[in-house]
Amino acid sequence: MTLRLFDARRAELLPFAPIGPGPVGLYVCGVTPYDTGHLGHAFTYLSFDVLRRYLEFLGHRVVYVQNVTDVDDDMLRRARETGEDYLELGNRHLTTFLTEMAALNWLPPDRLPHATEHIPQMLEQVERLVANGHAYAADGHVYFSVDSCPTYGELSKLSPDEMLPLALERGSRPEMPGRRDPLDFVLWQPSLADEPSWESPWGPGRPGWHIECSAMGIAYLGSHFEIHGGGGDLAFPHHESENAQAEAATGQRPFVDWWMHAGMLRYEGEKMSKSLGNLVRVRDLLRSFTGDAIRLYLVSHHYRSELVYRQADLKAAAVSAAQLRMASLAANGGDGDPASLGPAVRQHHGRFLDAMDNDLDTPSAMPELLALADLALGSDDAGERAEAGWAVRELGTKILGLRLATIPVQPEIGEAVGT
Ligand SMILES: [Zn+2]
Repeated sequence: MTLRLFDARRAELLPFAPIGPGPVGLYVCGVTPYDTGHLGHAFTYLSFDVLRRYLEFLGHRVVYVQNVTDVDDDMLRRARETGEDYLELGNRHLTTFLTEMAALNWLPPDRLPHATEHIPQMLEQVERLVANGHAYAADGHVYFSVDSCPTYGELSKLSPDEMLPLALERGSRPEMPGRRDPLDFVLWQPSLADEPSWESPWGPGRPGWHIECSAMGIAYLGSHFEIHGGGGDLAFPHHESENAQAEAATGQRPFVDWWMHAGMLRYEGEKMSKSLGNLVRVRDLLRSFTGDAIRLYLVSHHYRSELVYRQADLKAAAVSAAQLRMASLAANGGDGDPASLGPAVRQHHGRFLDAMDNDLDTPSAMPELLALADLALGSDDAGERAEAGWAVRELGTKILGLRLATIPVQPEIGEAVGT
């Protein structure tokens, strides 16, 4: 089989093919480090970590870029509330995020660009958009003209009537000086007196959120790359706007071949959020569960489906993680050869890969891995036990990213990140 991935813009599963001989470009929208992260963030980033690992398993080279939104409305509001410098606030939360993700065996991105270090690239794009008629300046602001972009809406599949309330819910303000259409979004805006600002042709100010990601994506991966991902709540307006302004700025269409979105995490039917008081934090779970258990719980779930958190499911994943670790020991350090596996091991190994080829269908892949673990632990044939143990280790570590360490690794997360 060939790997097929779902692209949100074309709204179908399509065989994955790199653009050219160079590495596959994978850009994932990163955190705005102003607050505590939660299990939903871990689910998103582990989903793309499995994608990256699977592409590498298939022999592709991957350049994984994940940004840090270290200047935006949320960052600056929180810094104002706490009296902390916004960059210090950002660095503190970013360190926590990276420490927690490392405990889950997340491979760090090849590039982790900070928005504040790419202001010139953002200004260059805004200038180009103004020059080619896709953006206009008004009262120190620069807006992208949605009217100038007939394809606006193609990614989120929303009508203008559906877009407006969502845009307001997700950061747009109802009254903006000089804005011609309520869907037009900010590319550049004046800073308030206590906010950081940079010089620009429209006066001192700071970038809008969407232009940050287009500028950093293009800076590291070019005007056309393979995969752009993020949480499902970013499809509109963030990715819709990124897509529109990137294509308008460069003239290159498509900007991205696969737009991929991870499902949202819910807690007993509600969105997980600090304001609802139902945050499940990785660092808290790490006090009772191994990184492998939490990771297995998250990556066993299909990346595009909504995940409803239940601790009983996490406990079941902890049992499976322990079983996989025991099974991988049956390999006795031996190497397997996929071409010469015995029939039962070959069948489960093959089905696991077939499931992964089908848009990373981990829920269908997992029973195959557990069947291999059963063989590794229970087969009457010593050769089969060793082969099955090898397959568990090969698929579990290289693709799912489990450690399956001989001695369980349990980072001292509480001490590392504070409470
Ligand atoms: Zn982004």
